[in-house]
Amino acid sequence: MELLLDGKLVSASIKSRFEEKLKLLEKKPNLVVLTLNPNDANLSYIRKIEKNCSKYEIGFDLKITKKEQEFIKVLDESIKDKSITGIMCQQPLPKHLFTEINKIPKEKDIEGITHESLGKVFVGEKNINIPCTSKAVIETFDYYNIDLTGKNVVVVGRSNIVGKPLIPQLLEKNATVTICHSKTKNIEEILKTADIIIMAIGKAKFLKKEMVKEGAIIIDVGINFEDGKICGDVDFEDVKDKVYAITPVPGGIGVITNAVLIDNIINSTKF
Ligand code: NAP
Repeated sequence: MELLLDGKLVSASIKSRFEEKLKLLEKKPNLVVLTLNPNDANLSYIRKIEKNCSKYEIGFDLKITKKEQEFIKVLDESIKDKSITGIMCQQPLPKHLFTEINKIPKEKDIEGITHESLGKVFVGEKNINIPCTSKAVIETFDYYNIDLTGKNVVVVGRSNIVGKPLIPQLLEKNATVTICHSKTKNIEEILKTADIIIMAIGKAKFLKKEMVKEGAIIIDVGINFEDGKICGDVDFEDVKDKVYAITPVPGGIGVITNAVLIDNIINSTKF
């Protein structure tokens, strides 16, 4: 490996960019996080967001609901409340609640998850929030000046928050994009053709050196736990000597995603 793609450096650069934006804001960002019967892991993740918000003087309010009707009521109130600039709905939520989440106007959709936001991302519209993790991947390419023009980029995973929103963003950068998923045949053969691989499947250490081309660039979005230790979808130790560049887990896309979330919250006040 010649280059460790360091999430702390990328997130520091995003932070210095949004600190400048914060100074110029007329309206203070104000975030509401809605949860439905959250577990301890959900709450600990939300507390981290709260800590980050307080660091940048962003208003923060956590609404814990226990019943779906209560969730829908608080969501509707948050949509109407003009003092709230951003709404985040802690996942996972029952699928049918997405009809309600889709009512969040694009200005308040700081996660970029409604059909309106995603549709606008697909047609390349600016001034729209993009799902944070997918944007964190693009921020990494930008920070390290990695030119995607004509590159074969293989994305493994087709979720609405990572794999799918990466498609328009990679095309915008003139990459040739292939998306793989659990039903893809000959995935190893496809991976071997990739100049750049983006792994987002949630399977610990799935990607091994036999699956990658010499000198490839690897972005590991996965967050998994193996023997009580956090690890990505890439077997880092196995592939590191074969690739040109790679993101670590932890210290890679995760920390960048946290910075992008704050950036999205700030940007929303201007849409
Ligand atoms: P998800 O909604 O569970 O989707 C997983 C995707 O991986 C699906 O498209 C699935 O295919 C595909 N897949 C699963 N097993 C596969 C296999 N063996 N071969 C090929 N494709 C396979 O996942 P997600 O929410 O996008 O998250 C993916 C990973 O990223 C997880 O580890 C998650 O924790 C992590 N993550 C990290 C961050 C961060 O901040 N770093 C943020 C979000 C998520 P099908 O569609 O065919 O089922």
